[in-house]
Amino acid sequence: MPVGQIVKAISGFYYVRTEAGDVLQCRARGVFKFEKKKLTPLVGDVVEVDATGLGEGVVTSVQPRHSELTRPPIANVDQAMVVCSLRQPRFQQMPVDRFLVHAEREGLEIVIVLTKSDLIKDGREIEQVREIYQAAGYPVIATSIHSGDGLEAVKERLAGKISVFAGQSGVGKSSLLNQLLPNRQLETGSVSKKIGRGRHTTRQVELLPLDGGGQVADTPGFSQLSFQGMEPADLGDCFPEFRGRADQCRFRGCLHLNEPGCEVRAALENGEIHPGRYRHYETFMNEIKEALMRR
Ligand code: GDP
Ligand code: ZN
Repeated sequence: MPVGQIVKAISGFYYVRTEAGDVLQCRARGVFKFEKKKLTPLVGDVVEVDATGLGEGVVTSVQPRHSELTRPPIANVDQAMVVCSLRQPRFQQMPVDRFLVHAEREGLEIVIVLTKSDLIKDGREIEQVREIYQAAGYPVIATSIHSGDGLEAVKERLAGKISVFAGQSGVGKSSLLNQLLPNRQLETGSVSKKIGRGRHTTRQVELLPLDGGGQVADTPGFSQLSFQGMEPADLGDCFPEFRGRADQCRFRGCLHLNEPGCEVRAALENGEIHPGRYRHYETFMNEIKEALMRR
């Protein structure tokens, strides 16, 4: 039975790209379950299909997922490309750190992509951003769709993986995707996109194949950015530069705020953790606590 991957789902039909590269239009047969829960096939699912006719088939089983995003609904995403512009608008660390927490929560690999490098005069600013994220271990790639800066490095990171692009509106996600997918042009610029969104409210996500062998979602990931449902103790796990140190804090369950013997605070004080990153940890912690009080 051929194995394939669902690359698009529209009103009860699943479009499955088989290992041979054909796309079959499929219905699903029966009820799928995973860990006793009922499971609806998602874009990104690896499935078995029964070919029933020319270009048609039936999904007969769904393989276990290693990740599952809800916005957009995609299974088995490997990686988040967290996108932020250097200019127009200027680099902002807060939204980047917010996207990073969400990507960490989903257990994704992460690359930070800075856009519009053609609009800055020297590389110092890029180095400053790189320094913020170095201690956290995130790769940072500066790109421009005009000069072509960084596009090869982005392609290398995308190869062989399923990736989503996340970032605020206007930072250049669609423009970047258009560079990576020359056969598939997405709308860019906020005005036309806003109109588009109003009209096609049920637009479906699609996984598009890249020349390098990877796949990208044609729509931005993590549009819903609240910390609802998160516990205070979970936040430190979403900061990789805290993770190794948290085990050595004096108290179990240390939230790294003002507990004595906190190794995260010690690392902050001796400059191993970036102060801006720590400040955002505090901000997010307050948001999580406030959300808990409202519950
Ligand atoms: P999205 O909302 O994140 O998808 O952003 P868009 O791709 O729609 O881009 C927003 C605006 O930024 C558009 O006017 C693009 O032409 C512009 N833009 C995107 N990438 C670059 C770049 O590398 N350099 C410059 N100068 N402008 C860019
Ligand atoms: Zn601590």
